[in-house]
Amino acid sequence: MNNTGKVFLVGAGPGDPGLITVRGLELVRTADVIVHDQLGAPAFLGMAKPGAELVDVGKRSGDHTLPQDGINSLLVERAKAGKLVVRLKGGDPLVFGRGGEEMEELHRAGVSFEVVPGVTSAIAGPAYAGIPITHRSCTPALAIVTGHEADGKGAPPKDGASNIPWNSLAGIGTVVFLMGVKTLGSIARHLVEAGKPAETPVAVIERATTPLQRTVTGRLADIDAKAREAGIKSPALIVVGDVVRYREQLAWFESRPLFGRTIVVTRARTQTSDLTAALRARGADVIECPTIQIEPLSPNPEFDVFIKNHEKYNDLVFTSVNGVDGFVSGLLERGCDLRVLAGKRIVCIGPATGDAFRTRGIIPDAIPETYVAESLIPLFEQRSPGRVAVLRAEQAREILPDALRRIGYAVDVIPLYRTLYGKPDTTVLVEALRSGRVDAVTFTSSSTVERFLEALDGTGIPPGSIPGVAIGPVTAETCRGRGVKLIGMACEYTIPGLLAKLDELLSKNSDEGGRR
Ligand code: SAH
Repeated sequence: MNNTGKVFLVGAGPGDPGLITVRGLELVRTADVIVHDQLGAPAFLGMAKPGAELVDVGKRSGDHTLPQDGINSLLVERAKAGKLVVRLKGGDPLVFGRGGEEMEELHRAGVSFEVVPGVTSAIAGPAYAGIPITHRSCTPALAIVTGHEADGKGAPPKDGASNIPWNSLAGIGTVVFLMGVKTLGSIARHLVEAGKPAETPVAVIERATTPLQRTVTGRLADIDAKAREAGIKSPALIVVGDVVRYREQLAWFESRPLFGRTIVVTRARTQTSDLTAALRARGADVIECPTIQIEPLSPNPEFDVFIKNHEKYNDLVFTSVNGVDGFVSGLLERGCDLRVLAGKRIVCIGPATGDAFRTRGIIPDAIPETYVAESLIPLFEQRSPGRVAVLRAEQAREILPDALRRIGYAVDVIPLYRTLYGKPDTTVLVEALRSGRVDAVTFTSSSTVERFLEALDGTGIPPGSIPGVAIGPVTAETCRGRGVKLIGMACEYTIPGLLAKLDELLSKNSDEGGRR
């Protein structure tokens, strides 16, 4: 048996997937085994290589899925079997993460290991709440403390009292407590008893750095009552000190335009990233429900014939980014390249399709004013009709080819890809719809409407309770026809147009959003 296995203790960061280190992400992508907790990890599991073993050893409502001994022996055993093991922990692996114990165990077992530090929630949480934890005008020192034993329970020191040095902490300008939600009342009491003024500002930050971040502020005297009233739950951290005051002006994360909004994205997984990324950048909590998958057609005899006879065509029409992607990869697979486009007019249905060519160094010749199939017709009317190829999905509306034929063109439809309708996992989605926290569901085509409603079949969620936002009139009509509550339609029928509409409807700075 080879013994080249190794364990990497990797910090996953506090929740925002952007806060893992470059090194950490590289390791997640190459690991044979990922041993993870609940905190911080979920976003990264989809990035593991195919076939990687994923082991959840996290705590669920107090139960250890696997006790610490079990975790230690799992790490040792997999490493000794020659595996590259990533032990992925929320925040930083050595800040209250029991990473130290795991290192000792690996050392004892003669297994080599490395540590990849992470961004701890103790630092990132306050930052995302707009609290500069060591502001020069407030404090020369910062303490990070576990609140776990603050009520004297937990693992007791010998005299039965808490072993947290309250008197010393009372003299430190900023104190951050992790694992302190349950003991918040005791923490505040101990600090006041040790001489900290009862007026000292306190912030409690729940699910920091995620779209669900919530911050409650108060003073040592009343923070426990306020946090209870707000229903703050773990994971949350507590910041005690004058620095908390800065938050009033500096709460940048929670002030982003779509922060606090929940938006569902229904496009195909490969297409969702632009829309999802743009919504997340504006602060929205995005739930992806990819209703469609794109699959290239292989074999594809129509495309083979097209390539053989490509010289016959004067005009090529592309109706989607997927079509352009499928076209280019199809050419390469057949030993051809973009030179087959030479001398032809390239017509694209919209700017995104056009950009798919631009990024490949080809400038499309024409893009109609509005981005629906019908609006392409005027681009063909003033010319002497020739042979056109419409390159697109296997199943699509016949409106465009029929209209082109009517004005005298010879039209060949070349299918390039197929849309598959898998049933997506709707657990998170259904919970969000039921609780009424979904502000908008984006639909980018009629089929996303149809598939989305199919995916909700049997859940008892009525279409009339789904706040739909459509990319254009055809999709909007499908929404209406299927009883979806249409709350808006993009003015420009593109993804940027859809984003602009969502901003208008939901952003805090808009009239509509402000009234909600
Ligand atoms: N190693 C982790 C801490 C583990 S202890 C780190 O460096 O962040 C678990 C505690 O961390 C939780 O009880 C909570 O107090 C805090 N915590 C972790 N992630 C958090 C988050 N996203 N928001 C608020 N608190 C968080």
